[in-house]
Amino acid sequence: MSSANSTKMGSFSEKMGQIEDSATLSVMGKVKGLIAQGVDIINLTAGEPDFSPPQCVNDAAIKAVQNGMGRYTPSAGLIELRDIVAKSIRNEIGIEYQAENVVVCNGAKIAIVQALMAILNDGDEVLIPFPCWTSYPEMVKLAGGVPVMVACDENMLPDMSALDAACNKRTVAILINTPSNPTGVVFPKDFTRELGEWCLAKGLRIISDEMYCALTYNGIEHHSPLKLVPELQKTSAWIGGMSKSFAMTGWRMGFFAGPKDWAAIVGRIQSQLAGSPNAIAQQASMAGLSHGMAEREAMRLEFEKRSKLIAAGIDAIEGISCPEPQGAFYCFVDISSLIGLTDESGITINSGDDFSKVLLEVDKVATIGGSAFGATNHFRISFAASETELERALEKLSSRVSTLLTSGKN
Ligand code: GLU
Repeated sequence: MSSANSTKMGSFSEKMGQIEDSATLSVMGKVKGLIAQGVDIINLTAGEPDFSPPQCVNDAAIKAVQNGMGRYTPSAGLIELRDIVAKSIRNEIGIEYQAENVVVCNGAKIAIVQALMAILNDGDEVLIPFPCWTSYPEMVKLAGGVPVMVACDENMLPDMSALDAACNKRTVAILINTPSNPTGVVFPKDFTRELGEWCLAKGLRIISDEMYCALTYNGIEHHSPLKLVPELQKTSAWIGGMSKSFAMTGWRMGFFAGPKDWAAIVGRIQSQLAGSPNAIAQQASMAGLSHGMAEREAMRLEFEKRSKLIAAGIDAIEGISCPEPQGAFYCFVDISSLIGLTDESGITINSGDDFSKVLLEVDKVATIGGSAFGATNHFRISFAASETELERALEKLSSRVSTLLTSGKN
């Protein structure tokens, strides 16, 4: 038995001490708090639709509560829902999954972490092209792996030669995201195939986060590497969920889909960690996937209008630029030409974070600084907000940029 002196009472795990708070959620939380106190802020932080879920989703949830369906379900989720999810992936993505390939999780974040826990041994490396969603590196660390960050090319696509250089015998997987949060870029078909073939040749698993697959705009199509290179289906995983395209962020419904051996381990991990996914949200998700498609499409069309509005608005502002928002609901703005300028309040813009801070503090427009996504000269706008709010924000953004360019001092 160790003595009291050697037990390090009150200390915490060194490994978990390194885990960062989610930047997106913490900024979003602070801004929602300020708004609740009555501060007039245009909130473009949240990757969260401003719509309500389809009516059938709400009705199914109410009915499920009234019928006493809020009990534990099987750990991997209700077989009926797993079946519907498999069918929807077959129809919409083109991967031949069955219910046994699917695990329903309490949000796609948990689906990704459990997928990583199932495949990583301590020290195993996972490639993460960046700019990337803020949670990816931390998720890999939580699962005992080492995130290896690989810069994207000038088109914000994973850079094949940089990936090749970063891949070594400890590399086991790559974590990708198309349509991308935070860039709004959708991987083109030929590129997606090339990436998939490279992974196959290297023996790497792909965790393909396709959470925004139903949200692409202006005729741009979503492509999955698992569909284009079917051999990958034996070793790779697909991630999706209800949060974004069905406006069900707080319902926490995410899906893991992959080979049956991987799905079985994810299910076992989940049986120990969560017990089962939320029973009421599972009933609601079944209704949404079966009867809510028209409302999902109506929301997509609204996002498409907003993507055009925001792209044209940014294009009209001299001094900043963004890749065309092709999918998801993000616009990733490059402010490199403002670096080094000092505004009238005395704040010098040394990064996208500084610019985002000025926008919030002076102009009352809340966005997320690019460092959260690994891009120092950028900031992210979520256009999951009304057209009126987006128009107001664009006006303020335009005048902030022109003030900086005309009166800003170097
Ligand atoms: N994925 C969303 C975002 O990037 C929601 C917040 C989060 O979980 O990161 O804004």
